[in-house]
Amino acid sequence: MGVKENLEQVLENIERAKDRVGRKDHVQLITVTKTIDEDLVRQAIECGATDIGENRAQELVKRIDLLGEKVNYHMIGNLQSNKVKYIINKVKLIHSLDRKSLAKEINKRAKRNDMVQDCLIQMNISGEESKSGIAEEELLPFVEKVLTFPYIHVRGLMTMAPFTDDEDVIRKTFNGLYQCKELVEKQNYRECSMEYLSMGMSQDYEIAIEEGANMVRVGTSIFGKRDYGGKR
Ligand SMILES: *Cc1c(COP(=O)(O)O)cnc(C)c1O
Repeated sequence: MGVKENLEQVLENIERAKDRVGRKDHVQLITVTKTIDEDLVRQAIECGATDIGENRAQELVKRIDLLGEKVNYHMIGNLQSNKVKYIINKVKLIHSLDRKSLAKEINKRAKRNDMVQDCLIQMNISGEESKSGIAEEELLPFVEKVLTFPYIHVRGLMTMAPFTDDEDVIRKTFNGLYQCKELVEKQNYRECSMEYLSMGMSQDYEIAIEEGANMVRVGTSIFGKRDYGGKR
């Protein structure tokens, strides 16, 4: 199947997942384009993809240079502090704010650009050591730290589920992120909103939506399996 059919199928699956849990709100699809040929990415945009996600700063910058302002860009992967300067002011949302040093750098670069950068806090709900992200018990202190940076606006949370076929484990992870959002909301922090929950990839975006995601990040189901050319 082609990109158009795949994209239509994903959008339909999103609506079905919403229906299963009686949701009427909007779920934003982020089309993840890492390693994908430009032609296919353009096809996806022609077929209605509005939001593009990349997990590496250099690749994101390349996309922005090629595709321009007709879509929104999302930084979804681990972000090294020394790469912030390349993407600041060009991305709608950074999904991977996961440490103080990164917050400090984003704040500094946003200030220089005279803008406020929207960010999601990346969390490690499953507790896997290989995953980056803030642990649940560190969330409130971390939010409070980020609130001291006036050029960052926290807009919600992001997480990744473990790589497993065990639906219960995946569901628990996503539900855990939902609980975290509720916990932050209860604090009534000023200048910190919890409007976005970014969770769910090709394997598990329908489960994520059932558990409250309103941003899903999907690559493989739209473009097919990625070819990393032997490297990652
Ligand atoms: C690659 C990637 C995705 C999309 O993964 P697929 O399985 O291809 O849908 C989502 N989120 C992040 C952070 C990624 O790096």
